[in-house]
Amino acid sequence: MSLIVQKYGGTSVGSVDRIKAVAERVARGRQAGRKMVVVVSAMAGETNRLFKLASELSDTPDLRETDALVSTGEQVSAALLSIRLQSLGVPAISFVADQLKIATDSNHGRARIKSVECDRVVKELERGRIVVVAGYQGVDANGNITTLGRGASDLTAVALAAALKADACEIYTDVDGVYTADPNLCPRARKLRRVSYDEMLEMAALGAKVLQGRSVELARRYNVPLVVLSSFSDSEGTWVGKEDRSMEDVLVSGVTLDQNQSKITIAGVEDSPGLAAKIFGPIAAAGIVIDMIIQNASADGHTDMTFTVARDDLKRALELMRSIAADIGAAGVRHEAQVAKVSIVGVGMRTHAGVAAKMFNVLAAERINIEMIATSEIKVSVVVNSKYGELAMRSLHDAFVNGGAAVSSAETV
Ligand code: ADP
Ligand code: ASP
Ligand code: MG
Repeated sequence: MSLIVQKYGGTSVGSVDRIKAVAERVARGRQAGRKMVVVVSAMAGETNRLFKLASELSDTPDLRETDALVSTGEQVSAALLSIRLQSLGVPAISFVADQLKIATDSNHGRARIKSVECDRVVKELERGRIVVVAGYQGVDANGNITTLGRGASDLTAVALAAALKADACEIYTDVDGVYTADPNLCPRARKLRRVSYDEMLEMAALGAKVLQGRSVELARRYNVPLVVLSSFSDSEGTWVGKEDRSMEDVLVSGVTLDQNQSKITIAGVEDSPGLAAKIFGPIAAAGIVIDMIIQNASADGHTDMTFTVARDDLKRALELMRSIAADIGAAGVRHEAQVAKVSIVGVGMRTHAGVAAKMFNVLAAERINIEMIATSEIKVSVVVNSKYGELAMRSLHDAFVNGGAAVSSAETV
């Protein structure tokens, strides 16, 4: 008998009617002879609503209490789905993370999973029940409720699929697969039949929120077969799995846009050894992830350093930068609260030259100024003014995906 972990996102459980539809889909799976574990998100908008309530009561709500609060949305959905399944005559039982033991560290708001205990799940599955699990949450060694980061019900699902050695992990959402770009922003985006773990990981990290980044990382590590499907239709989804040879024939698999980035410049710093360590050491110690960095050419022994951070981290990063700037005698700190990061991703880039050059040409033709550039083996990212983000994404999509992958071998990156 096959064992499947399914995950339903916020929109998919966003109303009583949607929960009824999910219960029917789950019931059909069971009729087809599958054992099923179902992970649910909070109803659409609920997690944001809970965060807002906390912020109305305090400027700096305590992180432990915030997790206790925002994790409740998932508990509600899990119980509601279980109630509906039972009313259809399908035996079901819901659990929160504490009851199963999805153990995490104590990093509230972004906790990492340490272990997943499945004994209770296995027992219930053997009794013929559907096991419904509240996503997004864990419990630390002291019994405190933690959350795993925004969008992390995907991670709960993959972690359970890995621990249970499930035959597949099905992620049901409001689009019917992974597209070459966000279909809600790019009307010409096409659905991918398959995408490699590496490409999906880059796409998720670069703004394609259809899958949460760490969930893809975990799926890759434990070889969990992952498929993205729509809870609104029965169309074939997108498989995320190991790379195979034919994937390299495609130059660019996806174009992403991330509008949640900020840019900080620390100006007029003395260009001497140890400078970068002085600036970025405290940032790293504060757990702030820095993405792109550029250092301007030195003039008069002084230079500017510019880098990007997630917008959620901007306030803390700026506070740190201002105190570092004062310490090291820098001329000042400037920032732009919102910039757009636009990226092209594809394993085919490993074997083709000229991709970055073509990307820059496409943006130049639209007269879009590139502020920063970063590359890896399978991606090229640029930062542009946020008002041109969507235009940049669509132009790149037209050039690389709809327009084919004509990169002359004479061009070089
Ligand atoms: P859920 O609540 O089900 O977890 P999310 O809102 O987290 O759903 O993710 C689904 C959304 O991801 C889609 O509605 C779509 O706008 C967005 N998205 C961004 N990039 C892509 C992409 N390349 N392919 C498909 N969807 C994408
Ligand atoms: N409800 C959580 C969020 O909104 C987790 C999730 O939906 O995956 O971030
Ligand atoms: Mg999501």
